[in-house]
Amino acid sequence: MRYSGFKVIKEALTGHKGWTPAWRTPAPQKKYDIVIIGGGGHGLATAFYLAKKYQEKSIAVLEKGWIGGGNVGRNTTIIRSNYLLDGNEPFYEMSLKMWETLEQDLNYNAMVSQRGILNLVHSDAQRDAARRRGNAMILNGSDAELLDTEGVRKLYPFLNFDNQRFPIKGGLLHRRGGTVRHDAVAWGYARGADQHGVDIIQNCEVTGFRIESGVCKGVETSLGFIGANKVGCAVAGSSGRLMAKAGMRLPIESHVLQAFVSEGLKPVLPGVITYGAGHFYCSQSDKGGLVFGGDIDGYNSYAQRGNLPVVEDVIESGMSLIPALGRVRLLRGWGGIMDMSMDGSPFIDKTHIDGLYFNGGWCYGGFKATPASGLCFAHLLSTDQPHEVAQAYRLDRFRTGHMIDEKGQGAQPNLH
Ligand SMILES: Cc1cc2nc3c(=O)[nH]c(=O)nc-3n(C[C@H](O)[C@H](O)[C@H](O)COP(=O)(O)OP(=O)(O)OC[C@H]3O[C@@H](n4cnc5c(N)ncnc54)[C@H](O)[C@@H]3O)c2cc1C
Repeated sequence: MRYSGFKVIKEALTGHKGWTPAWRTPAPQKKYDIVIIGGGGHGLATAFYLAKKYQEKSIAVLEKGWIGGGNVGRNTTIIRSNYLLDGNEPFYEMSLKMWETLEQDLNYNAMVSQRGILNLVHSDAQRDAARRRGNAMILNGSDAELLDTEGVRKLYPFLNFDNQRFPIKGGLLHRRGGTVRHDAVAWGYARGADQHGVDIIQNCEVTGFRIESGVCKGVETSLGFIGANKVGCAVAGSSGRLMAKAGMRLPIESHVLQAFVSEGLKPVLPGVITYGAGHFYCSQSDKGGLVFGGDIDGYNSYAQRGNLPVVEDVIESGMSLIPALGRVRLLRGWGGIMDMSMDGSPFIDKTHIDGLYFNGGWCYGGFKATPASGLCFAHLLSTDQPHEVAQAYRLDRFRTGHMIDEKGQGAQPNLH
């Protein structure tokens, strides 16, 4: 079924009886050409591009819970391509370009909103770093503008410009950045993949791998053994636990990241802002709630919930930037499990086991990467060659010394 304005009007006038489920609920087959583990944004996007672009015919996505229950439905919805390093910027710029046409590609309203993202700077050194990053972005075909204090004031007059310790000295504006409705991305990719013949199997947990003579033959699951010629793992915060079942230890730690939403307000924040002195980022949803977040909780965990000290820390940070935030009621908060790599950058690579491929280590930034990650992982799975914009995302980069330390702050999850 194609979605359109005409279809919505027709259904509204005829009692909404003509809608069909957005994807099927098939029983798993005994064997597929390609099995993707993880029905998050990355797993579903991979399956979609495998079927649509690479014309693969026999694909299943195995999801232990339900579609959209992981980080893809828990993030703060920010998309951007404001990176500095060569290993990252072309990949994220390709992703941002893919967001720009995603709704047409999927025939699904994902509420892609390029409302602009502004990274504030509070010192001369930060301004120099922002200028350098902006230049790298422009060289890679992205957009960047350096604003002075007055330029920021025009957009966000209510910020705390007079903060003696962290005065606002300007900001790097990335106008094509913005937000996308996160769970619509999961549903849109699931529907698109299903329409191209992908079997999406929910409530199917992968409990192990069948590996014979160094070759992966399939996966053990809560619904029995499922054979596969190739297996792609895209389980985000569960990467360490899953790959341990194949005997692999990854340069990844799992941490909790929390997000928060306030009561609904009249339009106040035109775009996304990030604080350069504390870790705080904020946008306003179309329902009016301020959606914001900050640092990871700082301890390893597989629980999808966070702790109170971080709630206080994030909100303190927010109030030092937007004092009026203290008058707003917090509606709810939630947590997701982040697959934090040791340099803050992801992996899209083959493993040393034939037929077993890995996608993970997305840290805070995996939502914006969803389209490009899906396309690049599909490219790797189908052709056995890395996509040209994902060549740096190798699993052995710590051994060979080719880390992609975007912030230049060191190899620890709490630093990036
Ligand atoms: C609070 C928060 C805010 C964030 N904000 C942003 C942001 O603003 N911008 C941004 O770019 N990124 C953001 N992120 C990061 C981003 O959400 C993630 O990096 C990205 O969603 C991870 O990829 P995914 O969508 O595939 O993960 P998920 O949706 O977590 O998908 C992984 C799936 O694998 C399944 N799974 C796990 N183990 C198994 C198994 N054994 N068998 C079968 N299935 C399994 C899980 O159930 C899950 O559904 C945020 C994350 C959080 C938690």
